[in-house]
Amino acid sequence: MADIIQLLPEYLANQIAAGEVVQRPASVVKELLENAVDAGATQIQLIVKDAGKQLVQVVDNGSGMSATDARMSLERHATSKIRTTEDLFRIRTLGFRGEALASIAAVAQVEIRTKLRQQDTGTQILVEGSQVVKQQPTAAPDGTSISVKNLFYNVPARRNFLKSNAVEMRHILDEFQHVALSKSNVSFSLYQNDLEVFNLPAGKLSQRVVQLLGNSYKEQLALVEEVTPFISVKGYIGKPASAKKSRGDQFFFVNGRFIRSAYLNHAVLAAYEGLLPKETHPFYVLFLELDPKTIDINVHPTKTEIKFEDEKTVYAIMRAAVKQALGLHNMAPSLDFES
Ligand code: ADP
Ligand code: MG
Repeated sequence: MADIIQLLPEYLANQIAAGEVVQRPASVVKELLENAVDAGATQIQLIVKDAGKQLVQVVDNGSGMSATDARMSLERHATSKIRTTEDLFRIRTLGFRGEALASIAAVAQVEIRTKLRQQDTGTQILVEGSQVVKQQPTAAPDGTSISVKNLFYNVPARRNFLKSNAVEMRHILDEFQHVALSKSNVSFSLYQNDLEVFNLPAGKLSQRVVQLLGNSYKEQLALVEEVTPFISVKGYIGKPASAKKSRGDQFFFVNGRFIRSAYLNHAVLAAYEGLLPKETHPFYVLFLELDPKTIDINVHPTKTEIKFEDEKTVYAIMRAAVKQALGLHNMAPSLDFES
């Protein structure tokens, strides 16, 4: 019998890998915004057209890339963020897998314009379905602009699977919120079909919360601050009166990264016990910092799940921190809540 096993061509391997990283326009938004943050940008602009189906563009004033790096950034498993196994256990950046740009470029038409601050000329690269169709020196501002056009143009099944613009835009806003909340010291703007939706100046977290999530949180935020040698928990929780029927405004960040955790959510709710009106959900934006050695964020390619080495202690400290914040603000249950 003849041998039949072959290595997949690179574009096909990328296309398959892309399925895990790039589910929808919002996945592109997340990856590009995170790259801009990792590049140390102080100003980040997100531009979307047709709920990201036509265009997702992120413009940053971060480090920029050399011509060689700009080309390398599109290779799979190519990253500037880790080099050794040890690095994997002390990750401080949002990215590290080196597969986002390769995955995105496999399923879209991508333009990179980038320039290092110390250089006079920048680089332009055009890629379509993993094929570089153009690379040339160009004039460009310091930093990087990456445009992702016609997502899934070459994967019709995926393109057809996309939801309505309203739904896709909701997912994009979620990703924008996560990154904008995690970095209140960075200014962010969002343009949707040429209209400015958000323009958030760099400032305090409490200001960012109100500008991003609405005036209903004004005067309603209680400071959380609990620092132990093992973990630090900081941020804000909403006073019980600001609790909402919808569950949306709840955010955990672990070492700067947005994560979902039913377990931690339970710890927060336990602290609110007896204080919330029926069927309402409290606001929280909480930042946990702990030794990266004691967590594992490599659970899923989109990195929104996390494993704690010492889950129980994290739970206890979290609940205590929120309780204390509520106590400091003297939130005894009131009769209003009984109705
Ligand atoms: P990762 O972020 O996991 O390293 P990516 O595929 O997202 O992988 O990016 C690959 C590399 O390209 C990054 O490690 C970084 O060096 C570079 N890069 C990507 N986006 C930017 C940006 N906006 N500014 C500067 N460098 C960038
Ligand atoms: Mg990345």
